[in-house]
Amino acid sequence: MTTTDRRIQRSEDTAGVVGPERLAGQGLDEHQHESGDRAIRILLSDPVVGPQTDLVITCRDGAYEVWAARGMVRFVRRYAEHGRGPAYSVIEQIGENPIARQDPRALATIDDEVAASRASGFPAEEPSLAYVDPAYLTYPLAYERIAQLFDSPNAPDLVVNPKAYLFGAQPGQHGALDVVQSRSPLIFAGPGIARGVTTDALSRQIDIAPTIAKRCGFPLIDGADETGRTSGERGVAPDVYLKRQDGRPLDAIIEAGAQPAERAYIFLLDGLSNADLTHRLGTDADGIPNLRRLVREGAMFEYGSFTNFPSITWPSHNAIGTGAWGGHHDIVNPTYYLRPTRELVTPQGQQFETARFLGDGVETLYEAFHRVFGDWHGHDGAFTASIHEPCTRGADHATLERAVIGDRDRLRDLTAQHAGDSDPKWQQDGQRGAYAESVIETRGLAQVLLLYTDASHPPPKFMFHEMPLTDGVGHDYGPHSDGVRAALDETDRRIGHILRMLEEQGLYDGTLFVITTDHGMAATDAAVKADQTRAVIVAGMKAVACPPFVYLLDMAVTVTAHPDGRTAMVEVLANDADASGQRPPVAGAAVTLSGHDAEVLARATTSPGGTCGLPLPVSIEPAELVVTVHHEDYNRRHLRLDGSPVQEDLRDALYGGR
Ligand SMILES: [Zn+2]
Repeated sequence: MTTTDRRIQRSEDTAGVVGPERLAGQGLDEHQHESGDRAIRILLSDPVVGPQTDLVITCRDGAYEVWAARGMVRFVRRYAEHGRGPAYSVIEQIGENPIARQDPRALATIDDEVAASRASGFPAEEPSLAYVDPAYLTYPLAYERIAQLFDSPNAPDLVVNPKAYLFGAQPGQHGALDVVQSRSPLIFAGPGIARGVTTDALSRQIDIAPTIAKRCGFPLIDGADETGRTSGERGVAPDVYLKRQDGRPLDAIIEAGAQPAERAYIFLLDGLSNADLTHRLGTDADGIPNLRRLVREGAMFEYGSFTNFPSITWPSHNAIGTGAWGGHHDIVNPTYYLRPTRELVTPQGQQFETARFLGDGVETLYEAFHRVFGDWHGHDGAFTASIHEPCTRGADHATLERAVIGDRDRLRDLTAQHAGDSDPKWQQDGQRGAYAESVIETRGLAQVLLLYTDASHPPPKFMFHEMPLTDGVGHDYGPHSDGVRAALDETDRRIGHILRMLEEQGLYDGTLFVITTDHGMAATDAAVKADQTRAVIVAGMKAVACPPFVYLLDMAVTVTAHPDGRTAMVEVLANDADASGQRPPVAGAAVTLSGHDAEVLARATTSPGGTCGLPLPVSIEPAELVVTVHHEDYNRRHLRLDGSPVQEDLRDALYGGR
């Protein structure tokens, strides 16, 4: 097969293309093509890390790129001609489009995962060891979920998507783009929701908040949709419920003409695999009677709800709580780099007081409930609560903002009363993390019981309740394990206490319930302790690596030849603008002019203003003159005086034989 046969669909038709919103350094700009290509090549061809890496993802020149050993694809985003949402089209492909397989219904059961693992060449019978190769995975909504990320100025230059079973040092993991890690369960029950229904309709995390808003009787407003344009800017009547609403109400499960729900309650069973929940419901529903009750009274999405990318806790919780993807709410990863302040921040690391990281472009459900039903004052207005929930902004009670409402002594008593729900297994197995999460769930239960029975304020109009045990146990024991089974039993007991209390308070019937989670959980080969992003730094590149993100530290270099052709001025700036919005000069950079055969013709060092001059030999053609810039804090640059690239083409380097 010739090269031209394999390199298909290359077209540069960019009319109407919508690149990243708020472009401020995310992806690869013109000064990062050299370092970006070098990093992509390292990540895909390093002897250790290359075979562990599934995809390297970036954005350049307004298009999105996905690179893999098996091929690459470039795609662009446009606003749809009809309807609201963007449409995506492939403009270049070499070899296999690595994200072509996007079936959202793939690998829906534990048996499917085990079969895919066997097909991948892993002999495991044990479902918690069902490692799956990329060839047997799919990437649901890959174009949308990749493009949204790069809309945030906090987005990285590169994202590394590891092979599903090669990331981190725990038996269960998540974070990747694939169907197993990105599928979370979704069940709605309550007023106006179809009863006893299992639907094969598709849903996304961003659809949950608009569905709650619609069922709770919110008015439509002139807010932004997934294109970032308000209803007014799109020339239509108000058509969204939230300030930035990427998702849409899940009308497939809503009954027309029903009375609005009085209040909403989200149970978030962190990290619970949809395959584990459906397996339990299908084989031993009596063991989880309270979840079974809500499933029977409501509507369950058979293929779950597709998460944010990356499929990780802090970004996903805030996508659920705002109806907007991480690229729009700006908490893009557990840990990310703020280019203007050169600061690495880790909302998920610090856990507490992270509302301040949420972007201004979005509205949380807490804020929206207050907008519609009023701020909470004594017995008036809407009271909202966030229990151990990473989405907090605007909540009256928010454990993780240290805003705890209610009598401390009663809270302590309720906690002590319910300590017996914890499974002794966690301590017997020496799993201190699981035990600690079990204790946190008991404290969360006590807060819930107090908030709905405390006469000093109305019962919560909106409750967002994070239950962490299924996540901790999924990480420590692996998905589909006995541990996950025990965790689900335990969490179900707590849900039972809450449902009974709501019935006793006469609040059950008016409550819209949501059961979901923030991400899936995939079996991982923990012994490898894989972290692909480190390979870039080990190879000597200057970068901030916070898995799965890489931020390259680059210099913006411009070479201006003077009209006489005898001298040139070189300006070297840090490529990332600082807090003032300017690119600061790089002083002390070593600049070399070389000709044919790397013969050095001149050397200079940049001044405090970031500039230096070079003499140009008039006898050598500009195409043969190369300026090299070195500085220990940044990736090196090579520029040919005629502007043509110096480095080997990445396509040739990776796919030259094709
Ligand atoms: Zn999580």
